[in-house]
Amino acid sequence: MSEFDLIRTHFARLGSERADVTLGVGDDCALLAVPAGQELAVSIDTLVSGVHFLPDCDPDALGHKALAVSLSDLAAMGAEPAWATLALTLPPDLPRTRPDWLAAFCRGLDALACEHGVAVVGGDTTSGPLAISIQVHGLVPPGQAVRRRGASPGDLVCVSGTLGDAGLALRLILSGEPVADGVRRRLDRPMPRIALGLALRGLASAMIDCSDGLAADLGHILEASGVGAEIDLAELPLSLEVAAVVGGTLDWSLPLASGDDYELCFTLPPAHRPALLGLASASGAPLTVIGRITEAPALRFRLPDGTDLRLARTGYDHFSD
Ligand code: ADP
Ligand code: MG
Repeated sequence: MSEFDLIRTHFARLGSERADVTLGVGDDCALLAVPAGQELAVSIDTLVSGVHFLPDCDPDALGHKALAVSLSDLAAMGAEPAWATLALTLPPDLPRTRPDWLAAFCRGLDALACEHGVAVVGGDTTSGPLAISIQVHGLVPPGQAVRRRGASPGDLVCVSGTLGDAGLALRLILSGEPVADGVRRRLDRPMPRIALGLALRGLASAMIDCSDGLAADLGHILEASGVGAEIDLAELPLSLEVAAVVGGTLDWSLPLASGDDYELCFTLPPAHRPALLGLASASGAPLTVIGRITEAPALRFRLPDGTDLRLARTGYDHFSD
């Protein structure tokens, strides 16, 4: 199969059909009719084999995850997903030795793209070590994007879903131990919190998605906002599996410093607290208040016994780990 056969067979019609795609795959550029009066939110993420995923992982799940991690960035800004481009680097023998791999990868990607109304409008296909970059483009009314800066002392610190499940799945897989399906799914098929991100426009004062671990990601909000936070560890939303590990080891690194959960962490002025219940039910995302923003610019984690936790490592860093 030539490069152009691959493109025609697999990439020509991925995701939703959208009326605002003037020209999709097939020319030197895609042409997109950006609606008047909207800002374009753009983000790109790369997944590298052996770094972000195990080389033998399920290609359908990989297609899903490659798009999910980028969509999660749109969620974290309160942007509505619209278009994506896909840059794929494939080992040269992959189309021959694993003929079903690309079809499965595209199936996983296509299903999530259709779920969120995203059209894949172009990309690039090269050979080399397996790596995937997806750039997503979303729309947001001017001035309404929720940024990392904006948290004020007294704001509540909130997170969606549960923390540490993806990290637990990875830990168990690497040590050859059995992994419960629900936990494994959190690693393989993260669900970008798009509906929640949109619902938090005009309510959240700052927001980020948890890709590197709560301590690191909340740290970015604090730094951008020039504030600190106190987090009550007893309030952290944990699955039964992660709670069992934390309870058994007294090690909080799974929920605080392991990545890949793709939940949203946001700050909320206390006046909006009554909205939390409605937000959770409207967006399908459980929401938990885990602490508050402080004027003192430190991030403190209070243990259930009232003392402070010392955290050795805050999250994954590609250049210092
Ligand atoms: P160029 O040489 O101008 O960069 P290419 O030959 O790389 O163009 O790509 C031809 C067309 O196929 C372009 O419209 C490009 O966007 C699209 N395309 C290439 N690879 C992919 C891919 N992996 N996913 C989606 N579209 C792709
Ligand atoms: Mg060209």
